[in-house]
Amino acid sequence: MVKLEQLRADLHTHSTVSDGLNPPSENIKLAKEAGLIALGITDHDSVAGIDEAIQMANIMGIEAIPGIEISTVEQGQDVHVLGYFIQYKDQRFLKQLKELEKFRDRRNAMMIEKLNELGIDIKMEEVLAKIRREDANVGRPHIAEVLIDKGIVQTMEEAFDLYLGKNGQAYVNPIRISPEEGVDIIKEAGGVPILAHPGIYDNDEMVVRLIRYGIKGIEVYHPDHSEEDEKKYQQMADQYGILATAGSDFHGSRGGIMFHAPIGTKTVSYDIVEKMKATL
Ligand SMILES: [Zn+2]
Ligand SMILES: [Zn+2]
Repeated sequence: MVKLEQLRADLHTHSTVSDGLNPPSENIKLAKEAGLIALGITDHDSVAGIDEAIQMANIMGIEAIPGIEISTVEQGQDVHVLGYFIQYKDQRFLKQLKELEKFRDRRNAMMIEKLNELGIDIKMEEVLAKIRREDANVGRPHIAEVLIDKGIVQTMEEAFDLYLGKNGQAYVNPIRISPEEGVDIIKEAGGVPILAHPGIYDNDEMVVRLIRYGIKGIEVYHPDHSEEDEKKYQQMADQYGILATAGSDFHGSRGGIMFHAPIGTKTVSYDIVEKMKATL
């Protein structure tokens, strides 16, 4: 018999429902090919891809974990809160997501305005044309795609470095919900809140504060983390008795260049998923 720790799960992926390039069902196929037993479906502020993922997962004989990655802001810094096993059809929860959409739309409009101020000709219609399905939401990678098309930058990375990332010229971060509010939304939807990629915030005080606030785990293993980050956050997870999770943050590849990492590059053993379920 296969031991539980030999079964692996990648808990962080994006699809065409947000800023990923593959439909949810395609991600499930890739997970199966990568030998995974479970895949977390964690689109930005959206659960629109979960049903499709579950359907394909049933065909493939693996598990699609219903999830989300909620965008929050603390002191001008994006902070992402992952939620797993959420009641994704809950009406109140879906209404809350609609509200989050407004923050997202406002931010996109502000960034385009800033790009225009910098003399770059880019219109919202061009960005909206980049979404791959009607129920998708729009994010910075879509703006980046237009910048690449126009030859203003060559790669996604360059688009973020020069314009859209935290130190970019067109970066804006208007008021959004706080990380605590993100945690609350996930808990109210019956889910397990986990802090995404703590290593990129450079704010461990906040990480500890959120642990005390009630997050059930931190994403220790992520493609943007260094080995030291992994060590530090594994220790932190052990110290506070919370879960250490992992995910590739897969978005697919644009122009042959992978944004974050392929499915299956950062995984946990399935017993972490079991422990997650046990906290429900
Ligand atoms: Zn994230
Ligand atoms: Zn992500």
